[in-house]
Amino acid sequence: MPTLTVRELQVSYGRAITALRNVSLEVPAGAVVAVLGSNGAGKTTLLRAISGVLAEHGAAADRGEIVFDGRPITRRSAAAIVAVGIVQAPEGRRIFERLTVGENLRIGSFGVHDAAANRRARRFVCELFPILHDRRDERAGLLSGGQQQMLAIGRALMADPRLLLLDEPSLGLAPQVVGQIAQVITEINARGTTILVVEQNAAMALSVAAHAFVLTTGEVSLSGPAGVLAADDTVRDLYLGRD
Ligand code: ATP
Repeated sequence: MPTLTVRELQVSYGRAITALRNVSLEVPAGAVVAVLGSNGAGKTTLLRAISGVLAEHGAAADRGEIVFDGRPITRRSAAAIVAVGIVQAPEGRRIFERLTVGENLRIGSFGVHDAAANRRARRFVCELFPILHDRRDERAGLLSGGQQQMLAIGRALMADPRLLLLDEPSLGLAPQVVGQIAQVITEINARGTTILVVEQNAAMALSVAAHAFVLTTGEVSLSGPAGVLAADDTVRDLYLGRD
């Protein structure tokens, strides 16, 4: 049974801008699924819809539905969506720069009241990102860009998600660091967390995902197994570049 189903979703900002049109996609339990698309294609809007924060950005779902584990979550509040286990790691460096690394991680676990689950999550985050453990007492603003991205992912993991949403985790990072992030995504998934990753970096996303959807001006223009999309002429021309 799929964990997340988005069905014929339409989202608009006010009356004038329709950012998503008839978008349908599935994220099966246990999978890594990627959504690719260039600037303005609607990737962020899709994540806002799933996380329940459309209204905060002046948008609304006009049509369609989002279902998680058989439960419709389409117009639920952000808090209710976190409570069912959907947690988004923010884009790039949107961490609390003036707080320490450890404090940032603790903020991620505010909704988790099970002390044992908390300890497990903290242990996992420290194994995954030893640097965050080593620098736990330093201000988060002093971390490098790649380490801040790791902290953003670590903070989301502290909430013990069943579905982790990643918004452009490779944005602004050096190629070597992008490789580390890809590895981390694979490790998190191997521990049983389902992942939806939104990326402009198609090469990275297709290297970690089993299945991918391409958004073009608010519509799904292509979808298929990652290996098939990586070999697709349109994807290669538009998103991967040819040698
Ligand atoms: P990016 O990678 O630049 O974030 P994206 O693929 O995430 O791009 P969205 O940010 O979802 O795309 O934007 C989709 C469309 O919705 C664009 O036409 C954009 O101008 C519009 N849009 C996004 N946010 C708002 C907003 N707060 N108010 C009005 N229009 C918006």
